[in-house]
Amino acid sequence: MQEWEQEEPLIIERGKGSYLIDTEGKKYLDGTSSIWVNLHGHRQPVLDHALKKQLDKIAHSTFLGLSNPPAIELARELIRIVPKGLTRVFYSDNGSTAVEIALKMAVQYWQQRRPEAGPKHTFLHLKLAYHGDTIGAVSVGNIDLFHSRFKPLLFSTLEAEPPYCYRCPFNLTYPSCRMACIDPIEQVLKNHHRELAGFIIEPLMQAAAGMIPQPAGYLKRIRELCTKYGVLLIADEVATGFGRTGSMFACEHEGVTPDLMAISKGLTGGYMPLAATLTTDEIYQGFLGAYDEFKTFFHGHSFTGNPLGCSVSLANLNIFKNKKTLARLQPKIRMMARLLEPLTGLPNVGDIRQQGFMVGIELVNDKQTKKPYPFEARVGHKVAMEARRRGLLLRPIGSVMILMPPLSTSPSELKRMVAILQASIETVTQLPASNPIQVPSPVGLLSNKHKDMQE
Ligand SMILES: *Cc1c(COP(=O)(O)O)cnc(C)c1O
Repeated sequence: MQEWEQEEPLIIERGKGSYLIDTEGKKYLDGTSSIWVNLHGHRQPVLDHALKKQLDKIAHSTFLGLSNPPAIELARELIRIVPKGLTRVFYSDNGSTAVEIALKMAVQYWQQRRPEAGPKHTFLHLKLAYHGDTIGAVSVGNIDLFHSRFKPLLFSTLEAEPPYCYRCPFNLTYPSCRMACIDPIEQVLKNHHRELAGFIIEPLMQAAAGMIPQPAGYLKRIRELCTKYGVLLIADEVATGFGRTGSMFACEHEGVTPDLMAISKGLTGGYMPLAATLTTDEIYQGFLGAYDEFKTFFHGHSFTGNPLGCSVSLANLNIFKNKKTLARLQPKIRMMARLLEPLTGLPNVGDIRQQGFMVGIELVNDKQTKKPYPFEARVGHKVAMEARRRGLLLRPIGSVMILMPPLSTSPSELKRMVAILQASIETVTQLPASNPIQVPSPVGLLSNKHKDMQE
């Protein structure tokens, strides 16, 4: 805040497509999809229309003891597109809460459905995990900078090493390692399954950890182990869901159905705060009983099942269908990989990790030894500031540059994003000027803040 008070803050007033426009009328490419939520661009006409249409009916009515048409219809549509076997939907309003709900459901399920299994209320998670900022989500998270100061408030968990191949904790190399990092996970499951309610994981890509991808076959193996040891698999698809990894959900890449799944961010196309926790009929059945058995799931929020959020989510899913979003994304994913290829040659780019439209570029002080930049160097922040100057908004995680553009980003916008990113990395890491980078010029910078947008 001290810095923010001294800086010239950037105030975003409007947006259009892949661009955000500030109060001065300056346009910026939205390189983070407004922190991983936007899918089809800003001011998307179909989404705008759905929201306005719902406003003419009602903005909100409670979901406690009542229901509403958009929420019913959305639940039906979600069940059609999520991994087969997930048949029940519980709404909430943000990703952290969707995770809290999954954790509470898992614990209560074991109490009610399998009391003979004994108290199962511990969770296993990967190190560097991020599942949100509320206390339960932080308990199953492991990013020291965000989490360590709240330790006294957190419940205890079990943790395992993630498959961080670039800095393998076991000093092995994929694929000759044959995913040896899974062995200790099996050990934990073997030794602790009696107390473990669930294993929570971000499938395919640990995003807030700095984009740490899981090798092919990893998630499938985790699913098998959870089944073998009677531990629920909780997939946190808050970041990976809705096309981000190239398929609708990351679990699909591995043909995996989790027992519980949290979704939010892209659910509304990035328009409204809405979230859902999905589960199987098996778990749902565990909550049925006579009134005086009190088996109900004691959890609800003021804005559960909000009709505006549900309407815009339905429109979001319609866009996926009608505009063939996923089919049209595939060539752009390959294009992104091609555009990033030259960056691997930069002297301070240690690792480039891509999973669909999720990209992490880890900057290092020494490429040979993989020595990280010191935290105080703020190299990620500096690159982001340089990119901002050039018209691209980014939010790095430490020294990892994150690129996560809207799925609707056009090929030319994609080119411009990567070119700016490359030029900004080169400027900050001080590549000799003998190697100038051509940055395509922005399309029609706005000079007047009240002028309507041209694209
Ligand atoms: C963003 C995120 C969350 C938290 O979602 P919020 O809506 O910010 O509370 C949880 N899990 C993952 C994987 C996320 O990326």
